[in-house]
Amino acid sequence: MSLFRSTAIGCPSCGTDIAFEECDSVNADRRPDLRDEILAATFQSLACPACAKTVRMEPQFNYLEVGAGQWIAVFPGRMLPDYIEIEDAITEVFDTSYGARALPAAREIGADLDVRLVFGWPALVEKLVLRAAGLDDVTIELLKLDLMRRLPEVEMGPGRELRVTSVEADALNFNWLLTEAEVPMDGFAANRALYDAIADAPEPWAPIRAQLSDGPFVDMQKLFIGEGRAAAE
Ligand SMILES: [Zn+2]
Repeated sequence: MSLFRSTAIGCPSCGTDIAFEECDSVNADRRPDLRDEILAATFQSLACPACAKTVRMEPQFNYLEVGAGQWIAVFPGRMLPDYIEIEDAITEVFDTSYGARALPAAREIGADLDVRLVFGWPALVEKLVLRAAGLDDVTIELLKLDLMRRLPEVEMGPGRELRVTSVEADALNFNWLLTEAEVPMDGFAANRALYDAIADAPEPWAPIRAQLSDGPFVDMQKLFIGEGRAAAE
């Protein structure tokens, strides 16, 4: 079921209270239109009735698409530094609804779902785009690390992220953006062969792959934030 809650938010531009249907949960199998809106960046967005400025809600909901095998917890970009605590919390939510502590019928559905945690709208769009193109999201994060080594002018750091925006037959289109403001910066295309090279020779990448997939937050940014899960436990 897709769930919405009536709420009011203040327009960041003029301060007017705007009535908003805030989303708690998206079931994309039943509401493919919501998936389309997410991809078009129009979901949870509307024009302020007073000043006409476009206002977009921060994302904080669960996305379920059984047909694609995806269960994604979506949180605002500003919460990224707390990813380990949030990973633990959403693992609990998944276990109760589709995992070890769920009813048998739900557990059966859950067995085919990949659990992911993302921060911000662009990160959610990326996961949907990759799954639709049949690409492995862990390999994509390895490719980003590989690309950063090949592009010495690139300054990677907290607050900046690299996202796949679309996939073509021979190329993957990437965009740099500022995580919190979700402001897009430069984009570039990477040859698809770079992805295939990592997928075809996984051994040298195994330790980093293990680190990237030690929880539902599958994102190279975790390598740049704190000491990671091993140090936290
Ligand atoms: Zn306004």
